Amino acid sequence: MTEKCRYFIPGPVWVRPEILQAMVRPMVGHRSSAFTSLFVGVTEKLRVLFGTKQHVFVAASSGTGLLEGALLNTVGRAVLTTTCGAFSERWKEIAEHIGVEVDHLDYEWGRAVKPGDLTDRFRGRRHHFDAVTITHNETSTGVMNPLAELARVVRAESADTLILVDAVSSLGGAELRFDEWDLDVCVASSQKALGLPPGLAVVAVSERAMECARKKQYRGTYFDFLEFERGLASGSTPWTPALPLIYALDLQLDEILDEGLTKRWARHRAMRDHTLATVTSFARPISSLQAASWTVSCLEAFEMKGNEVVKAMKERGYTLGSGYGKLKEPTFRIGHMGDCPAEDLDEMLQVLREVVG
Ligand code: PLP
Repeated sequence: MTEKCRYFIPGPVWVRPEILQAMVRPMVGHRSSAFTSLFVGVTEKLRVLFGTKQHVFVAASSGTGLLEGALLNTVGRAVLTTTCGAFSERWKEIAEHIGVEVDHLDYEWGRAVKPGDLTDRFRGRRHHFDAVTITHNETSTGVMNPLAELARVVRAESADTLILVDAVSSLGGAELRFDEWDLDVCVASSQKALGLPPGLAVVAVSERAMECARKKQYRGTYFDFLEFERGLASGSTPWTPALPLIYALDLQLDEILDEGLTKRWARHRAMRDHTLATVTSFARPISSLQAASWTVSCLEAFEMKGNEVVKAMKERGYTLGSGYGKLKEPTFRIGHMGDCPAEDLDEMLQVLREVVG
């Protein structure tokens, strides 16, 4: 690999040249046997990535499409959203647009959702929740929520409330075990820890969630899980797929599985640890250390505003992420996910130390 990674926004991430190259192949029709053998293989590998033996689907969209799809396919009456930043709030906005009843458990930006509070909310509820939404990794604040524990709470309190997970910036970069944690819908985007260009969204769906979808009258059209299931039964997608991205996904899944999931998760955690250890004399994460994300750090410098840090690093040839929403001015973000080589991350952090420290 010759090209250096100097690009550290929390998605779209830097993509290895080999992966970009994989997209430049001749097109084939999505009803052809060539596509079917490609796609069936991709689906099998995605199951391993999610840790599931249940349903997995691929959409030609960004993650938000499937977040909306998750709600449309499963929620008829009421949903509980857990929010602690801009992206977890997106679930709430979509649910309100759809017109279902929305209850919410809200936290200040930078905090993580607490399992005990979720238990209390279930015990004090006035009505049944069809689903609970959880954002595994809140990219706007660099907070990773304790997904396994939160899922355990939901299961303990209500056998048939579905667990809808936004894993957009965690899948492939942080531990996630769909079947073992008994999740119901889990959505991710290609341009984050999967180390791919933007344009694909992937989802794992439990049989319990499919049952729910089967009973729902309106599930939308483009993200209708039953259409995806029908498509996959004939080895294809319901609508024209983003074929170049599926070529790239196929190669990248081989390489992710070759690296090994636990090794890949540990590599991300080590990038987080190295980032936080390097900045400690001149910046601090806005989250607690315990909740600090494995894939993105949201930092506040002691002596400079976040937007000044981003500008100064740009002048040194490095692109960092600016703060998001109401954290735009005070914070900056470092995306440390996907395939960024550890030495390139370290080189950037040493320059950051010179610039800010
Ligand atoms: N959820 C999270 C946690 C995100 O980080 C993002 C994008 O940054 C989204 C949802 C939206 O994803 P997309 O831009 O792929 O629609």
